[in-house]
Amino acid sequence: MGEKHNIYLVQADILRQTPKFRTAYLPYGAGALWAYARQSPRVAERYALGGLFFLRGRVAEAAARMEHPFLVGFSCYCWNTEYNKRLAQAVKAAYPRCHILFGGHNVPPGGAMLDELPYVDFLAHGEGEIPFRALLEALCEPSPDFAAVPGLSWRAGRAVLTNADAAAESVADFPSPYLEGIFDPIVAAHPDIQWSTVWETNRGCPLACAYCDWGRHKAKVREFPMERIVGEIQWMCGNKVEYIWCADANFGLLPRDEDILNELASARGRTGYPFVFLSQTTKSPNERLFRIIETLNRNGLDRAGPDLAVQSMSPEVLRNIGRENMDDETFSHWLRRFRQAGYRTHTDLILGLPGESLRSYCDGVGKLFALGQHRGIWNSLCVLLPNSLMATPAYREKHGIRTTRRIFSHKPNHMPGMPGAQDEPEAEHIAEYIDTVTETAAMPHEDWRTANHFMFLAQGAHGYGLLRLAATYLHTENIVSYADFYLRLLDFCHRHPGTLPGETMAHVEQAFIGGIHGEEAPLSIPGFGAWHMAEDRYIFIRAVLEPERFYGDAAEFLRQFGLEPGLLGQLLRYQRESVLLPGAAEKTLEFEYDFPAYFSAIYGDGKPVPLEKRAVRLRFSFPGHLSPADGYFNSVIRSDRLANDALYRIEETR
Ligand code: SF4
Repeated sequence: MGEKHNIYLVQADILRQTPKFRTAYLPYGAGALWAYARQSPRVAERYALGGLFFLRGRVAEAAARMEHPFLVGFSCYCWNTEYNKRLAQAVKAAYPRCHILFGGHNVPPGGAMLDELPYVDFLAHGEGEIPFRALLEALCEPSPDFAAVPGLSWRAGRAVLTNADAAAESVADFPSPYLEGIFDPIVAAHPDIQWSTVWETNRGCPLACAYCDWGRHKAKVREFPMERIVGEIQWMCGNKVEYIWCADANFGLLPRDEDILNELASARGRTGYPFVFLSQTTKSPNERLFRIIETLNRNGLDRAGPDLAVQSMSPEVLRNIGRENMDDETFSHWLRRFRQAGYRTHTDLILGLPGESLRSYCDGVGKLFALGQHRGIWNSLCVLLPNSLMATPAYREKHGIRTTRRIFSHKPNHMPGMPGAQDEPEAEHIAEYIDTVTETAAMPHEDWRTANHFMFLAQGAHGYGLLRLAATYLHTENIVSYADFYLRLLDFCHRHPGTLPGETMAHVEQAFIGGIHGEEAPLSIPGFGAWHMAEDRYIFIRAVLEPERFYGDAAEFLRQFGLEPGLLGQLLRYQRESVLLPGAAEKTLEFEYDFPAYFSAIYGDGKPVPLEKRAVRLRFSFPGHLSPADGYFNSVIRSDRLANDALYRIEETR
């Protein structure tokens, strides 16, 4: 037997770090490929794993670390494809005979990517294990038969050919990269890194959402064996993995998910790890999911609660994307059930789906508020994943979908939502891109912009609570709907640019559109970090830094709704006093109306009661610090305890 050929696998991610910690993801996908491939005796005999590259190091240095690479496989997603291209080019320049393989979610169907990237030799489509192993086996032969490798695009002379994907196999025999020891050298070599990882307990999703690249493979859920799962839990906890991102499409769908979580919770009790278990929960809440959330909370593992995802509230949109939501009553029931038990929930919404108009989108947000989801809407922009149904030319044409190639991340600390995320120190900053839907037949570009501005304002003013009580009163009394309240507030901002909300929204809108077109105009406030600040948080912080001005302007806005001046004054004062502004953690105030009874009926069981005019003495309290010198911003702004809500606890006192 001659010397083995060196295989390198690249699944490069950014390093997330603060002065106190450095954290990175283990390259799960790459590890899974190698664990599966080396089961083949021919692969084991002919190849050795030269290395797994999991951080975006300097391109030249990464290429130089590879010793006579025979094949380098790159896992491509929207956050690393441009980096992969640069590294692949460098490897090919240094080793022209090295085979370059691109695979992963960002490799589109067909062989067009080979035409664009002459330094890439092969593309793997679909699940990677089978094409990867079959390609390595084919390359053992003096005259490889690439036509026999499932899911492969390759060059035959001047032609580019693509083979049919392999049928989805049972995953029961897929070896675990954790248990095969594939990550052990990485963990041993980087004692300074706190690990995050992706974990699969099953693969596949029974649904088929048009925007999702899993949905295209609408497939039976294939389970990994319990023995493997238990072993992986022991490995992850034993190796101090802090953050587990469960990649199951619907955690809680299978009865055994509860057993899996109990096993994880008990391992956490013994080892202290992990700190967080994050999953995409089943789309049909049930008692099992409730118990799962209970277990997560009891063991301190929960960060986000269940996802009562809707994506859209429009029946037409749901038909277009092949999705069915739970009905309003069920949604509201589970929302309140989780809330009454003290658990947060969140609701995913996507902006820019086919068939969604500005009106239907704003009405959908308003409806979620009316159903009780006031503070946990997680809005995303619709993006075109290359392997989704939505990305196909026929679908795009049918729905008039236009996209903008938007920068996904380009510089340290600019990655939305990921404070401190950065490439390896001193690495080149290579921009990554994502195709974002910025216009559809139902939502012209101008409307798309307005819908975004509406959402930022609704999340900042309603989600955090700045104007939630006022909006709730006006909605409940049928004076103005939630959607129109925030649309009118947006209009007020545009017509009154000198007000604080007007000034704030001008900055938000400028930064947003600049970001879409690749300009560097991150939202930031001195003293709050250098990274891009989320728009809703920016709106909230601007208001709490100048509350007199904000609520003075809000009074002017609210006057248009024709409330009797005495009531308006009381409502506005109650609204303002309810928000956690810098100041005292406790206070006692008197009002002429019984606002607590009125709002707790609406936010509690959703059954409104009349607002009673009666003198009340109220105690406002907050368990954290509200003094600016004593940690207000850590308690209120940075703390995830609040989950996007910044209101006092209020009770009547004597
Ligand atoms: S979005 Fe979620 S539920 Fe829909 S197909 Fe994808 S994984 Fe399944």
